[in-house]
Amino acid sequence: MQKIPKDLIIAIDGFSSSGKSTIAKDIAKTMCYKYLDTGSMYRALTYKILKNNINIQDPTAIKQMLDDTKIDFQLIEGKNHILLDGVSVEDKIRGLEVANFVSEVSTIAQIRTFLVKLQQEIGKKGNIVMDGRDIGTVVFPNADVKFFISASLETRAKRRYKELKAKSIDNNVNLLLEEVEANLKKRDKIDSERAHSPLKVADDAILVDTEKFTKEEQLDFVIKKIIEHTHS
Ligand code: C5P
Repeated sequence: MQKIPKDLIIAIDGFSSSGKSTIAKDIAKTMCYKYLDTGSMYRALTYKILKNNINIQDPTAIKQMLDDTKIDFQLIEGKNHILLDGVSVEDKIRGLEVANFVSEVSTIAQIRTFLVKLQQEIGKKGNIVMDGRDIGTVVFPNADVKFFISASLETRAKRRYKELKAKSIDNNVNLLLEEVEANLKKRDKIDSERAHSPLKVADDAILVDTEKFTKEEQLDFVIKKIIEHTHS
């Protein structure tokens, strides 16, 4: 394999459960880069809002919460955990309760400003792969390489359903595929139509349809593109 480029910022955007975190983690592993899951940050704040019953229509309450919030990441037993105010909330943020509310929370400008600043701070030194909805458009519009990951709603819903079942997230034997699909559809709509940094394909993003390739082919394709791009 050719020499892996150093110090890059690689932006991966796409719809929910499109396979972007799998690609992002694989790139980070292959290139020995850091990986930042920005969705987990929006999920962690949503969890805090739900837990503390914070009114998202009240800008003062949101400001107070943000002034009193610390988000960090820590490797625990080989797995990257998000810490909310010093405590791992990794196993609290993946279920449907948070998923059903996270896109509404993510429309709030104060929340976006707070998290984008933090993401820019974490990513500015490079050697990082970040995934989310607005990485290539807002967080790092000058990212070295940008990918936009896609898959059909049906495929994404099946993937997410399997994942939730496998991890017994929501501990719910009655969880329905239709419920998961409805949640993805709702989030797609809110994420694409919101006023602040909506999900859209950056002009210079490379499209990756995860339904067309195997996992290995996807990784091969993106690594080739990264090498090609940095030599052009
Ligand atoms: O990536 P994930 O599905 O975990 O993201 C959860 C939600 O967080 C998204 O549906 C979206 O509303 C929000 N999000 C965002 N901007 C990002 C990452 C996630 O608005 N960069």
